[in-house]
Amino acid sequence: MRASLIIAAGGSGSRFENSLQVKQKFLSKLFYPLAGRPLIEHTIEAFQPVPQIKETVIAAPASALKLFKEMVRRNKWKNVSITPGGSTRAESVWKALQKIKSSSPFVLVHDGARPMITQEALQKLFKASRKHDLVLLAKKVTATIKEAEGKDLVQRTVSRDFLYEAETPQLMSRKLLEKAYKTVPHAFQATDESSLLEAAGVKSYMVTHSDWNPKITNYQDLKLVSAYLNASSLTRTGFGRDTHRLVAGRPLWLGGVLVPHDRGPLGHSDGDALLHAIIDAILGATGAGDIGDWFSDQDEHFKDISSSMMLAKILHDAKQKKYQVAHLDTVITLERPRLGDFKQKIKAHLAQLLELPFDAVSIKAKTAEGMGPEGAGLAITCEALVTLKKDLL
Ligand code: MG
Repeated sequence: MRASLIIAAGGSGSRFENSLQVKQKFLSKLFYPLAGRPLIEHTIEAFQPVPQIKETVIAAPASALKLFKEMVRRNKWKNVSITPGGSTRAESVWKALQKIKSSSPFVLVHDGARPMITQEALQKLFKASRKHDLVLLAKKVTATIKEAEGKDLVQRTVSRDFLYEAETPQLMSRKLLEKAYKTVPHAFQATDESSLLEAAGVKSYMVTHSDWNPKITNYQDLKLVSAYLNASSLTRTGFGRDTHRLVAGRPLWLGGVLVPHDRGPLGHSDGDALLHAIIDAILGATGAGDIGDWFSDQDEHFKDISSSMMLAKILHDAKQKKYQVAHLDTVITLERPRLGDFKQKIKAHLAQLLELPFDAVSIKAKTAEGMGPEGAGLAITCEALVTLKKDLL
């Protein structure tokens, strides 16, 4: 199953703007900050790990094209393109449909303003699409619904037994969608793709789910989602420091990378002072003791153990406790050799070990200007500051 994703992000956001108590103008409501990054980035990011999606086309407001293009570049997303939207949602989706390059037989359409879409709901949808040409996420209506005469006189209370609220994503055959646009009268007024295909006679199937997939329409919605995201994780910081004596003939391991030198750290393990500082920083943040508690230098079992293995064990424990490393900053104090290009190599290796983006790892190298044991080339000292996020839900 291969699908192209269309994100409808072309709306003006006028309802959103009107709901703001403090008048603050953004070129698109989708750029309002949510948990530290624009709302729309959460939406796009949610689809990045989905194996079925080969390509993403975002229909953006013509006035905000530059903003969207900059965002794609900044996040280094692959196969994501931007196209100007139209005056209605249906027109925007139509325009995006013309820009699809891949030959995927399915199209997945999603509202840019639904940042909370989960992998579970998405996979449920893909599974259902094996049997149907058109499937959409939906929720059973739980509110009491009134039908009014005029503006405010209740005519009747509608039975909600068979009422559902349509959500996105909606997943459908690309051919059928293209055909519906060409054959259904007033196609460009359709408020979602399923209603357009229904008008063309295609059977539409709902996939109900229990995840929270709100559409951010007004400022209050944004505040609610923001509170939910902020309340669902906790941040902790840990600090670690390690010094090793440097002696002739030992390999110089630093952050899991072998640095050519005639001296290396003396130690029970491989003596990787940088990894030891990082391990202590993680243990500091999780409140799980120190490296000596975990890997005693009295224990023959740990003789010459690779520090990368030690880190893997500590990370495993942190993950069990629902912690995830979010950022790492380090300082290496070493007189010789000059680390130069090795800094980038160590950074890339640590990013891989910690499952972090490259720019969430920092390596700083210093000399001690000839002072003290580090300055005399007799020791190496490393310091690490690590930020962990704990998932509370
Ligand atoms: Mg050590």
